[in-house]
Amino acid sequence: MADEVKDQDLMNKIVSLCKRRGFIFPSSEIYGGINGFWDYGPYGCRMKRAIEQLWWHEMVETRDNIEGLDSTIICHPRVWKASGHLDQFSDLMVDCRDCKSRFRVDLMDDPNTCSNCGSHNLTEPREFNLMMKTFVGPVFDDEHVAYLRAETCQPIFVDFNSVRVATRQKLPFGIAQIGKAFRNEINPRNFTFRSREFTQMEMEFFCHEDEGMKWFEYWKEQRINFYRNKLGFTEDNYRIYVHEKLAHYAKAAIDIEVKFPFGWGELEGVHHRGQWDLSRHSEFSGEDLQYFDHDNGRKFMPTVIETSVGLDRTFLAILSKSYYEDTADTCKEGKDQELRIVLRLPATVAPIQVAVLPLSKKLNEAAEKLYFDLNRHFRCEFDVTGSIGKRYRRQDEIGTPFCITYDFESESDNAVTVRERDSMQQERVNLSTLRDYLEDKIGF
Ligand code: ATP
Repeated sequence: MADEVKDQDLMNKIVSLCKRRGFIFPSSEIYGGINGFWDYGPYGCRMKRAIEQLWWHEMVETRDNIEGLDSTIICHPRVWKASGHLDQFSDLMVDCRDCKSRFRVDLMDDPNTCSNCGSHNLTEPREFNLMMKTFVGPVFDDEHVAYLRAETCQPIFVDFNSVRVATRQKLPFGIAQIGKAFRNEINPRNFTFRSREFTQMEMEFFCHEDEGMKWFEYWKEQRINFYRNKLGFTEDNYRIYVHEKLAHYAKAAIDIEVKFPFGWGELEGVHHRGQWDLSRHSEFSGEDLQYFDHDNGRKFMPTVIETSVGLDRTFLAILSKSYYEDTADTCKEGKDQELRIVLRLPATVAPIQVAVLPLSKKLNEAAEKLYFDLNRHFRCEFDVTGSIGKRYRRQDEIGTPFCITYDFESESDNAVTVRERDSMQQERVNLSTLRDYLEDKIGF
C-alpha cells in the first residue's frame, strides 16, 4: 500500500513537472482539454525528437538492410479490412445505467457489478471498434468513410513491393516507419501511456520462413540491447513477457515491459507474424506480394518479424526511471539541504545537453559566444537569470547533464567549470578540449 501511494505520488510529480517545465501538457487545455490527447512543449518535443532520432539511427541509419518509409495516415479503407482491424479491432464494453460509467469487460473484477457504484443495473456487453473514422471528400456517407491508421505497420506491408523494387533489396531486409497512430481507446489513462493519438516506431523484417525464428531471436536481442545500452535500462526497470496465447498466424511473441509509476506496462512488442500480413494484402488487393528468389528460382510469401514500440510510452518510461529527489550535498552549492528534483536522463535524449551559465552579467557576451559554438554540436541553453545555484536547480529539473560556468578566470585561463548533474562534481576544462570532452561524455 505504501508503495502504491508512493507510486501514485510519483506519477503526480511527473505530470506536474511535465506541465511546469513545458514537457507535456493537455491538448486544448484552455478549452478544458480533450481526453487522451497530449501536446509536447518546448523541452518535450526536443526530447521526443531525440528519442525518435536515436531509434531511427539504430534501426535504419546504421544498417544497410533496413529501408525507411513515411506513409500517409489515411489509406484505402480496404487496408483495414484486410488487416482485420475493421472486424476485430474492438473491445467488449458495458455501461452502468445508474452512474453512466463505461467499462471494458475483460478488465472488470466482476462483470455483473459496476466497479464505480456497485450497481447491477448494467447493459449487455457491446463491441466498440477502436478505429477512428473520418470522411474523404465532400460527401459524408458510407461510401466516403475512411480511417485514421491504427498502427503504422499496415502501410509497410502495403508498400512492400514498391520499396523492394525501388531499393533492389533482397531478402532478408526490413522496412521501418515512425508516425502517428490513432485509437479510439475507451478509457485513456495513465498520462500518455494510453492515449488516443500517439506515435509508433515500427520495423517489419521480411525473411524466408525457415529463418523466421532465427531472426525473431536476433531482433529480440537487438531491441533489449537498445534499451540497456542506449537508454540505460537495467534489470530493475524492464522485464520480458513471453506470450503463451498467440494469434493463430503467429509463431512467437514477446513484450518488453517496463516499470511505470502505475506498475508494469507494455513498451514494445517483438512478434513473429508468419506470412499473415502479406498474404492478406495479396488476397484483398489482388497484387501478388510473393518474393522471387533469383538465386534458386523459388517463389514464396515472406515471413515477417515485427518490432513495434510507442514513442510516447518510451518517453514516459524514461521519465519514470529518471525522476529523483535528493537533498544530499546541495548545500555545497550554497543551499542548506534543499530538496533537489533531478531528472537523471540519458545524455543522448536530454532536451538540453549542455547549459552555459555566465557567472556575471559582465561575462554574458563571451559566454554567449561559447553557447553559440557549442550549440552547433549539442542541444544547448544559455541561462543568465538568477543565482548560479538556482540555475543549477532549474537545469537539474529538466535533466541537463552538463552545466558550464563561465567565470572571471575563464578570460585568463581559457577554461570553464563543467558541473555534472548526478554527482554534482565540478571539473575545470580547457576551452580547446571542451567539445571533445563533452562529445566523449554525451555520445551519439
Ligand atoms: P496495449 O495492450 O497496451 O493496448 P497493444 O498490444 O494494443 O497495447 P500494439 O498494437 O502492439 O499495442 O502497439 C504497439 C505499441 O504501440 C505498444 O507496445 C505501445 O508502446 C504503443 N501503443 C499502443 N497503444 C497505445 C496507446 N493507446 N497509447 C500510447 N501508446 C500505445
